This record gives sequence, C-alpha cells and structure tokens, in this order.
Amino acid sequence: MAKNGNSTPPQHFDVLIVGAGISGIGAAYHLSKQCPGKSFVVLDMQESFGGTWWTHRYPGIRSDSDLHTFGYGFKPWRGPPIATAAEILAYLGEVIEENDLARHIRYRHKILSARWLSLDYHWAIEAVRSDTGERLTLTANFLWMCQGYYRHSQGYLPAWPGTEAFEGTLVHSETWPEALDLAGKKVVVIGSGATAATIVPAIADDCGHVTMLQRSPTFFITGRNAIDLAETLRQLQVDEAWIHEIVRRKILFDQATFTRRCVEEPDVVSKELIGVIRNLLGQDYDVETHFTPSYRPWRQRIAFVPDADLFKCIASGKASVVTEEIEHFNATGILLKSGRQLDADVIVAATGFNISVLGDIEFVIDGERLQFADSVTYRGMMFTGIPNLAWVFGYFRASWTLRADLVANFVCRLLKHMDATSAKAVRVALRPEDEDMALLPWIDPQNFNPGYITRSMHLLPKRGDKPEWQHNQDYWCEKDQFPAIDLRDRAFVYR
Ligand SMILES: Cc1cc2nc3c(=O)[nH]c(=O)nc-3n(C[C@H](O)[C@H](O)[C@H](O)COP(=O)(O)OP(=O)(O)OC[C@H]3O[C@@H](n4cnc5c(N)ncnc54)[C@H](O)[C@@H]3O)c2cc1C
Repeated sequence: MAKNGNSTPPQHFDVLIVGAGISGIGAAYHLSKQCPGKSFVVLDMQESFGGTWWTHRYPGIRSDSDLHTFGYGFKPWRGPPIATAAEILAYLGEVIEENDLARHIRYRHKILSARWLSLDYHWAIEAVRSDTGERLTLTANFLWMCQGYYRHSQGYLPAWPGTEAFEGTLVHSETWPEALDLAGKKVVVIGSGATAATIVPAIADDCGHVTMLQRSPTFFITGRNAIDLAETLRQLQVDEAWIHEIVRRKILFDQATFTRRCVEEPDVVSKELIGVIRNLLGQDYDVETHFTPSYRPWRQRIAFVPDADLFKCIASGKASVVTEEIEHFNATGILLKSGRQLDADVIVAATGFNISVLGDIEFVIDGERLQFADSVTYRGMMFTGIPNLAWVFGYFRASWTLRADLVANFVCRLLKHMDATSAKAVRVALRPEDEDMALLPWIDPQNFNPGYITRSMHLLPKRGDKPEWQHNQDYWCEKDQFPAIDLRDRAFVYR
C-alpha cells in the first residue's frame, strides 16, 4: 500500500496488451471472456482509445471497408457500412463499456523497451508517462502486440526538393492541424489512395478549388453507402446479431468471388471498374490518364468511394485531377515535370505511412537485442526466437479486424493450453523438416506491393515456403486453419 492509503496499481500481469486500437480492445475483450482468470493490462501512448480512429483528424475521415467485417464478429454493426471515425470510436466505446474494459486500460503510457528474461519467464516492460514524464517498469508473462503497423506521430513525406521555399501551408493528412482554414483557398492534395479520395470531396465545398495531384492512378470501387440485404433483413425485423452475421457472410462471399476474379480475369475486372468511373465522369473526361492504373486490381487495396462523392465532385468542376510527377516545390506551389505550375495556398500530403515495426519498442531477449528481420514468421502472428509474444497484423485486402479476431481466438487457446500443460513459455521454432526451407521476404511483392510495405521489407521478418511459415492474406483459408492449429506440433516449443 502507498503511504497515503491508496493502493498502488498492480505492476505484474499475466498478459500485457500493447495498444488500445481496434486490435487491442478486441484482444482485451476476447481475453476477458475466454480466459477470465488472467490478469491483464492494456497500455497505449495516446490519450484515449481507438488508435487510427483517434489520431486521424482529417476532414471526412471514414473507413474504406464495411463495418460489418471491420467491426468485431461479436458486436453487431447497426449503421451504414462505411463509417466515420466518430462512429467507429462510439462503437469501440460501447465495447469498452459493455464489457467493463476501461479499468484495464492505461493511457499516455509509451512503451520504450521490452526485455524477456528466461529465468523469470516474463517480459520487463519499460514505459514512460506522457503526462508526468515518469518512467515505470511493469512485468508480464505474455506480450500481445496490437500496436498497428505505422507511426501515428508522423506520416510519410517524400523528400520533394524545395519544400522550404513554399510560402503557403504544407500539412500531412496524418497530423491534420485543428485550426486549418481552407475557405476560398487553392488546395492541392498529393496522393491517389483512400485518404486523398476522402479529403478531396470533404473539402471541395469549402475551398476555392481542390486539385488531386497523383503520380499514377488507383483503382476505386463505388456504390451506395448501404447494404440492400441488411435493409431487407431490418424491414423483416430480424435480430441485429443475425443481420450482422448474415451480412458478414454475404460480404465475405462477394469479396472472395471478386478476389478470385481479379486473379483469374484481371483485364475484365479492370475494364469493369474503369467503366463505372467513365460513366460517372462522362465520355469527354480523360479516364485513360487519371483513372486507368498500370497494375492489376488487388495488388493494392481498392478503396470504396461511398455514393461516388469523389467522382461527383470532379464531374461538377469543384475538384480536378492532375496525373504528373513533381519537379520541385517553389514559393507559390508546385512545378511539375512537364513544366506546368500548380499554384496552391495549402498543400496536403496524403502520402501514406512510416512503418513502425513492433511499435518502435526496443526488444531484448536474454540480454541480446532482437533483430526482428532475422526471425521467421509463424502464420504472421508469432516469430522464431521471440518467446511468449503474439502479434496482430490484419488483412490488407479484407478488413483488418477479421484477422484480429482470429488471432485473438488463437492466443486465448494457446494460453489455456499452456495452463493445462503447466508450460510457462512458448516459442515457435523451425522443425527438422523446415531446416532447408527457402527463406523469402515477408510478403511477395507480386502479390501485394503498396509503398509503405516495399519501403520497409528489410525490417520485417522472413517467410518460408510452407503455409505455416507464411503470413497468409486469405481469410477464407485462415478461418478454418486457425482453429485447427495443433498446439502440440513441433513448431511450438514449450518450457
Ligand atoms: C485513415 C485510415 C483508414 C483505414 N480504414 C481501414 C478500413 O476501412 N478497413 C481496414 O481493414 N483497415 C483500415 N485501415 C487500416 C487500420 O489502421 C487498421 O485496420 C486498424 O485500425 C488498425 O488497428 P490496430 O488497433 O491494429 O492499430 P492502430 O489503430 O494503429 O492502433 C495501435 C495503437 O497502439 C498504440 N501504440 C503503438 N506503439 C505503442 C507503444 N510503443 N507504446 C504504447 N502504445 C503504442 C498506438 O498509440 C495506437 O493507439 C485504415 C487506416 C487508416 C490510417
């Protein structure tokens, strides 16, 4: 007990969850339900929960996949499929409240290092409090990494020449200034992905003119922000839990069909996607230049544009698209390689992320600094050489949370298995039959190649050429494979 009579908060836990984003809150939920005897704490460096949905503040911020699958399997989503950050935060808040999770979460705790001590069978976690500057050490037997994949404090800004000469305002979408006034201004949004496609229609009515400047075009899917099946089931007064499950299955089925078509007949799919945009923009619009990507659909995530807002805004003349490379910035805007000048009062860089590998935490295992890139991934959730740790990395193409739920069920099963067999430590290791296995980069760039992954591949673990040593991106396989993982397989080494 502390001198003033208040009890000191506990400093040792069975499980420590890193991050209170959608993955960390999901992990806390599953742990509390499936392993009710386990003590746990969730640490997050932010001031509140939500991760991505707390830190991103740019205008119009919304999901790009549907909330029936981006939401958890265990909590029905009742709103329109594409949701705003505020709606997602409200949903996460309900999960916390309904399941009494708030008492387990400690905000403003940035984890600096994690040291595994084999003799003690635990991790020593050093964290710093952003409010008091206090450094503290907690210990935990198992570390559940729900830290996401990118650095929230700073987005990726390419090294464009001349940015210092620009006399207007340059902002990054990831760190949007609260007081940015766009009224009547000339705005250039640099980027071609979901973020640029969200910001452009969200600000078009306010500013003088907005230009989306992209180096190369991206695929988009567009449609009504509603799901007919969900509406019909609601009219029939079907229970919301049923609607959630039925609509999830329908969406997943449709996505699997679409993904298969992208692989089997990419040219047909490309034509279809581009044809929709052509219809929205009119026959005179230069769709070839601005909306005809050179890559095959699904090599990068395809953003959903609800109610075609981006395209309506381009068709109305409030926004325009320029597809060119930047030569350099200058006092009044951007000079393009073609020699054309794009004047701007405000330039928004919607240029993506800086990957944060393992939450920028320094990992030390029995005194030796972890070289994460030397480890081999076990199904994208455990790694050779790292004991008592699981990592949540969701799907690129399907909703992230589908995988967060699968990994959570696996971790809870593993923890229960360890209790039942009195094991205090578990790690994955290559088996004798794996010793000659070829080790390859984490993700096959032919399969998925967004910039933030290719920039960081050298920092990420290796994959093998067998399914268990790969980070699969297929929910339809993993939903059956994960529950069937044999915890007595020799890939799991217990102590
Ligand atoms: C604008 C935007 C829209 C997106 N839309 C979708 C979508 O529609 N569908 C989809 O599937 N995916 C989407 N994504 C990807 C999205 O990031 C993930 O799906 C999901 O939100 C990740 O959740 P998470 O909890 O794993 O990680 P995050 O949301 O990144 O949360 C991780 C948390 O961990 C904390 N943390 C990290 N390191 C430390 C540390 N060292 N110490 C303490 N705390 C730490 C962070 O502060 C953060 O709060 C989107 C991403 C962005 C940026």
